[in-house]
Amino acid sequence: TPDLSDAPTSPDAAAATPAGPGQGPVALVTGANRGIGRVIAQRLAADGFRVAGTHRSGDVPPGVLGVRADVTDVEQVDAAYKAVEAELGPVEVLVANAGVTRDTLIMRMSEEDWDTVLETNLTGTFHVVKRAARGMVRARSGRIVLISSVVGQLGSAGQVNYATSKAGLVGMARSLARELGGRGITANVVAPGFIETDMTADLDEKTVAGYQAQIPLGRMGSSEDVAAAVAFLAGPGGAYVTGALIPVDGGLGMGH
Ligand code: NDP
Repeated sequence: TPDLSDAPTSPDAAAATPAGPGQGPVALVTGANRGIGRVIAQRLAADGFRVAGTHRSGDVPPGVLGVRADVTDVEQVDAAYKAVEAELGPVEVLVANAGVTRDTLIMRMSEEDWDTVLETNLTGTFHVVKRAARGMVRARSGRIVLISSVVGQLGSAGQVNYATSKAGLVGMARSLARELGGRGITANVVAPGFIETDMTADLDEKTVAGYQAQIPLGRMGSSEDVAAAVAFLAGPGGAYVTGALIPVDGGLGMGH
């Protein structure tokens, strides 16, 4: 048997090897009080990460450290990181999930519809990524996962603001991958398709049927489907994956 004692350790070995409950790497998920973010937080906790989650309203799931923050507010983001660092230690895995929609046709889209979506989905992600990078660069390891959307690549009538913000996250992740790769930090995008949450609950039956007809797997996705891809990127399997865009969309966006 080869002697592996001198084998080089992966620069992000710490992030790649979650231990037992309460011992694994520290993960922060934004928007962990409901929807996809809540399920991602639960999945990472089940995988052995020590998980913190931001919430503006409501509460985070049991077993997750809740920190209040509106991602559009730099000071609140900084305070949330300080609370996580004090309680759990520096953030080793960041999942930027918080996001909003303000859907309407371009002719009717107000400045406010545009600003709210861009400030939350794009600028808010910039705030949390920038703050996370500080500790990750120091540790020379880290995993950054940005939650985009299939419509960032596919486009979507009535979602000019939202699709623009979600496409922007791809440029952000790929630039981070290049800028921070030398420090053992990965940056990837998960692009969910049509997932059953509050965000899609108000769509009328005709729209839902229209979407389903275009999904090769013929069903809407679950938050668990998205969480599985995030868990892969945050865990041992994600060690050599960076700058990738992983669709979790039942085939809806194929070809991008
Ligand atoms: P939900 O509407 O169910 O939840 C959105 C979450 O984001 C909530 O926790 C919300 O907090 C939080 N949030 C919104 N704005 C802010 C803010 N300014 N600061 C902090 N937190 C904020 O959405 P989903 O779970 O469906 O979506 C999660 C992510 O997945 C989003 O980025 C979304 O764009 C993306 N996505 C969703 C798809 C879907 O089909 N559902 C498809 C593709 C992508 P609060 O409860 O306080 O509002």
